[in-house]
Amino acid sequence: MRYISTRGKAPALNFEEVMLTGLAEDGGLYVPENLPVYSKEQIAAWAGLSYPELAYEIVQPFVDDAIPASDLKEIIHDSYKDFRHSAVAPLVQLDRNEWVMELFRGPTLAFKDFALQLLGRLLDYVLERRHEKVVIMGATSGDTGSAAIEGCRRCKNIDIYILHPHQRVSDVQRKQMTTVLADNIHNLAVQGNFDDCQQMVKDSFGDKSFLPSDRKLVAVNSINWARIMAQIVYYFYAALALGGPHRPVAFSVPTGNFGDIFAGYLARKMGLPVEQFIIATNTNDILHRFMSQNRYSMHELEHTLSPSMDIMMSSNFERLLFDLCDRDGAVIADFMERIKTEDVSISDQAFAKARALFDSYSVDDTVTVQTIAQIYKETEYVLDPHSAVGVKAARECRRNMQTPMITLSTAHPAKFPEAVLKAGDIQTPALPHHMADLFEREERYQVLPKELSSIQSYMVNSLSA
Ligand SMILES: *Cc1c(COP(=O)(O)O)cnc(C)c1O
Repeated sequence: MRYISTRGKAPALNFEEVMLTGLAEDGGLYVPENLPVYSKEQIAAWAGLSYPELAYEIVQPFVDDAIPASDLKEIIHDSYKDFRHSAVAPLVQLDRNEWVMELFRGPTLAFKDFALQLLGRLLDYVLERRHEKVVIMGATSGDTGSAAIEGCRRCKNIDIYILHPHQRVSDVQRKQMTTVLADNIHNLAVQGNFDDCQQMVKDSFGDKSFLPSDRKLVAVNSINWARIMAQIVYYFYAALALGGPHRPVAFSVPTGNFGDIFAGYLARKMGLPVEQFIIATNTNDILHRFMSQNRYSMHELEHTLSPSMDIMMSSNFERLLFDLCDRDGAVIADFMERIKTEDVSISDQAFAKARALFDSYSVDDTVTVQTIAQIYKETEYVLDPHSAVGVKAARECRRNMQTPMITLSTAHPAKFPEAVLKAGDIQTPALPHHMADLFEREERYQVLPKELSSIQSYMVNSLSA
């Protein structure tokens, strides 16, 4: 399988190369040149597979000859064995034809574990074979950092550096990162805000000369193709559990960077009958505004009760635009250049293609809290604020009541107790057993000034041998 850039000017890569690359050289994102497409009969034959068995079927054609079948199977089984539910991604019913899929049963209680448990292991496997070591660098305001650290804690060939804004992430989120005490895990608390952290990561990717020449710098944010790939699996899994592929389904996806929902879009292109996708956003609603008016325009960032969706621009949306614009890299390069200074639209024809499949809805904090309360009243089920945004959008935008509507539940409610408390007389769910002693565990992190040279010299001096 070959991967091409959305801006049309970078060389095509194979799976191993694409996993070790962040952005393409031309600033674009990598996507598969061709997708495998399955008939209904082929998809139906996967009914009843366990989650890792299905994951192998979906993932194998993308990995292609990079990893032998038996090794890939083992890596996938290992990636999902620490999830705390035998179904890995269980479905919960809210009402007739209305479901949530719980994607928070992994080690850090958010859906990012699905991709990052697998990515860490895939990377370590290919690095071992290449006799190479790499450095992962990322900035986090919460979920990505902890999931990436958990995914890499046993990786021998990876040093991971996660920058978080000092004293500006929640206690649960910080402790999930800083209590992982392996030597290859480096938590840097930067005396600045999240944007400062992100800027220093960007600058480091822009000029990697601070690192020894034998250490590549690898990105694990959702521009990494392998993350999208891993997320395709649970769309098939949900549909198969609810009568697919002989019966179409619909999904509502709490969305920030458009990574998760883009994986669903790919599942549909691969042959899964999906009637509708709902882009559910909080008040950082650039995608909802685009879907309503065909105008892509940036607004100021707002801090909401669903912080993992607080974004100004959705990086992975570029991957969808590429398809909508008939995979014309020049059009995308022009679009991405122009949004730096103005509002941008796509052709009517391209916009109509998007509207045929996607609806969107924006949910503010007040309605998020009301939705948590409402669902609790109806079912005694407690949603986290991100999932509540998804359920509300699903109820507002459903096109067909006969089609099963599945909202992806992206985080465990105990991870975001503030929103649940605001919803009134609801018992805030406790942290799961494996994290019950989180607040007693030893922490390790380094406080550093917001200064690129300090960060980089700390990194170089702490690399494992
Ligand atoms: C990252 C995250 C999201 C948004 O996912 P995208 O792939 O960026 O759209 C939603 N909910 C939670 C809890 C997250 O951690």
